[in-house]
Amino acid sequence: MIQSRREQFDALFPSEPAFRWNQIEDAFFTSAKGWDDVTTISKSMREALTVIPWMSVEPQTIQVSLKGDTHKALLKVADEKEIETVLMKNRRGAWTICVSSQVGCAMRCGFCATGKMGLTRSLIADEIIDQYRFWQSYLTTQPPNHPTPSRISNIVFMGMGEPLANYEEVKKTLNLILKYTDIGRTRITVSTVGVLPRLEQILTDRDWPHIRLAVSLHSAIEETRKKIVPTSYDEFLPKLEDWAKRYLQTFGNRRHHLTFEYVMLKGVNDTPEHARALAKFVNHIGNVRVNLIPYNLTDCEFEKSSDSTIQEFLEILHAKHLIATTRRTMGEDIAAACGQLIVVANKPSID
Ligand code: SAH
Repeated sequence: MIQSRREQFDALFPSEPAFRWNQIEDAFFTSAKGWDDVTTISKSMREALTVIPWMSVEPQTIQVSLKGDTHKALLKVADEKEIETVLMKNRRGAWTICVSSQVGCAMRCGFCATGKMGLTRSLIADEIIDQYRFWQSYLTTQPPNHPTPSRISNIVFMGMGEPLANYEEVKKTLNLILKYTDIGRTRITVSTVGVLPRLEQILTDRDWPHIRLAVSLHSAIEETRKKIVPTSYDEFLPKLEDWAKRYLQTFGNRRHHLTFEYVMLKGVNDTPEHARALAKFVNHIGNVRVNLIPYNLTDCEFEKSSDSTIQEFLEILHAKHLIATTRRTMGEDIAAACGQLIVVANKPSID
């Protein structure tokens, strides 16, 4: 297990009062560039702290899409492992970052490049938070060519890994982001394949902050889902429906809905029959929005649904009164779109 900065601090200064760590943590979210800039603590403590890395992630390469609206960084974390994280311009005139929660992923979804890597390890909260800190500092120190604000307004947990398979560290990350940044609960989305025991835990966990949740449904027909999401639980759909109803009863309101993500795979889950099954499923639950994701090319047997198929699918959902949208695809030219994040040894870079 990688030692967190907090654990390293406590080992160095076992008898410091608790507020000292808060002063330090606070500085992580300011423009401070290193321990030397943390003037709220003594010089001797600053010097002693230099043995703890100020940043737990180190950029290896940064790629920028031709349009300049998507930036992807390959970051080295402890024990020489690597992860990817993405910065995307959003419609709010600010940036959305897409963070990774694990090195690789154990879920093996057939259409996802990260799934092919298998799981190496989970990230600790420092390493997830530092993806935010990395982009924040990138935006202020290396502004992209065109005039643009440097503010990160949204965070999505849609990078490498299954966030709910790393529940405690993701929860810590969320609470710190909410404490130290101006990003509110409705601007953070955790996307999950649907780890039912953890979804259940969220219902009663007082420390779980109610950010937005997106469940990767991908099919409302059990056999189809099992085919494309092999880790799908038996009888996933009725169990998800039951959970979603209870979740919405407790936490749902006009501003707080659930999202179901649905990757559109040609001939697999994109037929009118699938659309009708999805509409029926969602209508049983209630306050759910559907986000169709055009399939981004990865090294696998699936093909992308055509634009007209996606349009027809969407029309069926709308006719059944669903709130459904299609996700904008960004950063395909630098393999930074959903499901394209993969770390390959010795991959050539174009930074
Ligand atoms: N493990 C989380 C996060 C995955 S990435 C989850 O399963 O939700 C975010 C979304 O992108 C998920 O809905 C995922 O299924 C989807 N995705 C994965 N590979 C994709 C691909 N090649 N094209 C489009 N979407 C993909």
